[in-house]
Amino acid sequence: MTNRKLAPLDFESLFNAQKPTFESLPQWYELGGHCSQCEREGWVDRWQLAREHGETSRIADLRPALRCRKCGNKGSNTWIVAQAPR
Ligand SMILES: [Zn+2]
Repeated sequence: MTNRKLAPLDFESLFNAQKPTFESLPQWYELGGHCSQCEREGWVDRWQLAREHGETSRIADLRPALRCRKCGNKGSNTWIVAQAPR
């Protein structure tokens, strides 16, 4: 579907001090998860998540709900972001 190459950045070092919500995370950032167990990185649909959890949900608060689609690891995964090509 897409051959975009996203360079993952560490969400926590970039944004955690600002405690961003879906609403306040700049819209050109894609949101993804990094598995602490198998190192898999996967991108999520942040707009879908915002609809499900509310635009004013703090993204960091949803970290425990991140589940790896490869190994099923949950609870210790981290958020990653990448600037979407414009
Ligand atoms: Zn995994």
